[in-house]
Amino acid sequence: MALLIQKFGGTSVGSVERIHAVADLIERTARDGHQLVVVLSAMSGETDRLLRLAREVCDVPDERELDMLLSSGERVTISLMAMTLRERGILAQSFTGRQVGIVTNNSHTKARISRVAADRVKVALSDGVIPIVAGFQGINESSDVTTLGRGGSDLTAVALAAALKADRCVIYTDVDGVYTADPNVVPNARRLSVLSYEEMLELASLGAKVLQARSVEFAARHHVPLEVKSSFIEGQGTLVTQEHADMEKVLVSGVAGDLNQAKLTVVGVPDSPGIAAQVFGAVAAEGLNVDMIIQNISQDALTDISFTVPRAELTQALTIVKKVAAMINAREVEVKEDIAKVSLVGVGMRSHSGIAARMFQALSREGINIMMISTSEIKVSCVVEEKYLELSLRSLHNEFELDKDPTTPQ
Ligand code: ASP
Ligand code: MG
Repeated sequence: MALLIQKFGGTSVGSVERIHAVADLIERTARDGHQLVVVLSAMSGETDRLLRLAREVCDVPDERELDMLLSSGERVTISLMAMTLRERGILAQSFTGRQVGIVTNNSHTKARISRVAADRVKVALSDGVIPIVAGFQGINESSDVTTLGRGGSDLTAVALAAALKADRCVIYTDVDGVYTADPNVVPNARRLSVLSYEEMLELASLGAKVLQARSVEFAARHHVPLEVKSSFIEGQGTLVTQEHADMEKVLVSGVAGDLNQAKLTVVGVPDSPGIAAQVFGAVAAEGLNVDMIIQNISQDALTDISFTVPRAELTQALTIVKKVAAMINAREVEVKEDIAKVSLVGVGMRSHSGIAARMFQALSREGINIMMISTSEIKVSCVVEEKYLELSLRSLHNEFELDKDPTTPQ
C-alpha cells in the first residue's frame, strides 16, 4: 500500500463528465488498496474568467480581494468531486487551503508556502476518508486567503506530498508526459520516461508548460518523486526524479524554444571599468530579469553590449536603458523583438564535450544565424531570428536523434 497524491488539472475536471471520469480513476486507485490525497485545480478557463470579471469592475484589482475571488474556482471542483464520490459510496471530504493548514507569506497572487500542517488531511486518512484538497490557495499569518501563482495547484500537490512524506505525487493533465520537444512543432518528438528535476526545471522555465516551475523546484528540494500522466488515456507518463548515473549516458534530453525574449543593444559604449555595472545595476534596480548578455571586443575604445529581457518588460527596460545610455555617452540603443531562444537540455552534457559545437553546426547547415549564445552545465541556448524557431527545433531534434530512445538497446 502506497500513499499517493493525485493532482488533476483544469481540463481534467473541466466538466461534469470529466469529474465522473476522474472519480473513476480515484475509485480504482482506492480499490487497489492505496491511500490517496486528491488535489484539484479549478475547471479549465475558470481562473481566467474570474480575472476578467475583476478587471470589469476595476482597473487594478486589490490583490487581497483578487485572491479571495480567484480561490473560489477550486472550491467548486473540490466540493463537486466530494459529492460525486460520496454518491458512489466512497468516503470523501473537501478541504480548502486554510482547512489543510497551508500557510504562506503575504505576497498575494504569488505567495510562497512557509509551512503545511496537514492535520485534517492526516485525520481524514486515518478515518479512511479521501481528502479532496483545493489547489492554488493558502492563508497568510493573518488568515487572509492567498494564491500561489498561476498553475499553483501543482505546488499544492508537491507541498502536501512533502509534508505527508507521500510515496509519489502524480500530476494528471491533458498530455501523457514530458516530450523531447513540443510535438506540435516536431512531429516525431518522443515521450521521455524519466527526467531529472534539473532538466525539468530548465524545460519548465523554457516554456514546456507541463509543470509549474516552482513546483519542480519544491519537489527537487524535498526529493518528492513526481510523475506526469494523462487523465484522458491510460498508460505510462514521465517520472521526474533525482539524477542518477544512467541519465548521464543520454547526451541531450530535450530541445525547447522560447519566444518570450527581446534583445536590447547599447551601441558605442565606452570600454572602461564600471560601465556594465552601471547598465545592469539600473536594470536590476527596476526589478527586471536579464537573461543572456554579450559584450563585443572594443574598437577605438568603444564596444557594444547586448542582452535579453522578457518581452513583457521591454518597454520598461528600454526606458531605463535609454537613460543610462545618455549618462554614459553611448551612441544609441537598438531593440530587436522578433527573436527566439532555442535550447538543448541534458544532464549528459556534464560528462560529454562537443555538444555546443554540434548544435552550432546543425544550425549553420540550415543557414540559421546565431545572434547570442549562453551555456550552463546542462544547457546550451542560442538566440536566432524568430522565423527560424521551428526549423531550429526540428534540425536539432534530428541532429541529436532525439526520436530514438537511447536507453533501449538497438
Ligand atoms: N486555477 C489556477 C490557475 O489557473 C491554478 C491551477 O490551475 O493550477 O492558474
Ligand atoms: Mg496546470
